[in-house]
Amino acid sequence: MLTSVSISSILIFMIAKKIVFANQKGGVGKTTTAVNVGAYLAKAGKKVLLVDFDPQGNMSSSVSVDDSLPGIYEVISEKATLFEAVQRTPVENLFIVSSDINLTGASIELAKLENNQFILKEQLDKVNHEWDFILIDCPPSLGLLTLNGMVASDYVLVPLQCEYFALEGLSMLLRTIHTIQKSLNKDLALLGVAFTMFDSRTRLANEVVKDVSAYFKDKTFRSKIPRNVRLSEAPSHGLPIVEYDAKCAGAVAYKNLAKEVIERV
Ligand code: ATP
Ligand code: MG
Repeated sequence: MLTSVSISSILIFMIAKKIVFANQKGGVGKTTTAVNVGAYLAKAGKKVLLVDFDPQGNMSSSVSVDDSLPGIYEVISEKATLFEAVQRTPVENLFIVSSDINLTGASIELAKLENNQFILKEQLDKVNHEWDFILIDCPPSLGLLTLNGMVASDYVLVPLQCEYFALEGLSMLLRTIHTIQKSLNKDLALLGVAFTMFDSRTRLANEVVKDVSAYFKDKTFRSKIPRNVRLSEAPSHGLPIVEYDAKCAGAVAYKNLAKEVIERV
């Protein structure tokens, strides 16, 4: 017979860890990081759901989705259930709810609703027990979609491009996270800052890493993602890097980053 202790430990085990990949700066590696961390978590035997919460739909095209199926827009506007919208990807154990330009319209509709910061959370709470990890990709802004992503999550992972301008806006991002922690989601924690497009040969990249590490201390991930052409090619083949070129430097770095994510949650 199961004791109450063993029942509760099973329940705890089955609740998904939700991570939002956020940085209002564009093109810093949010989508690439979410897709490839997700793929390596899946390869490690975790059941992973990717949620594309960006109208650009880059995450969706990175894993070859079927456009004819409902996506996150249909889910949040209650035209489809989340279960109906979940699709397989080229990686076993890795699933996705896709997105497309329709989500832009949804964000305008959302703005009119009361409690509009909780729309994504309400949907994800229904499927919490189905997944080990839910990874949410956000657009490059601190608007309502990103806010919904943060409210729905346990952790924020901040991809940071190793360039001078990448630091601009970081304090605003941290202020936003603090505001959400104080009001809409007290459980939200910073999982860490992941350095992306790192080029060890440039002094600037090394300085960015040094300064950001001095500020964030153990909240920076050890695995730095190098600038790697294979990582930029993989999405055009609709494949995460593990399926496109598992031996390249970018793949090794994302595999190590996924290991660190497992250690931290
Ligand atoms: P957006 O803000 O538009 O959503 P993003 O932050 O999600 O962008 P990505 O789409 O992941 O950023 O990356 C931006 C571009 O840089 C893409 O073309 C991607 O393929 C490329 N890229 C990402 N990481 C790397 C890397 N480590 N090396 C080389 N190219 C990379
Ligand atoms: Mg993106």
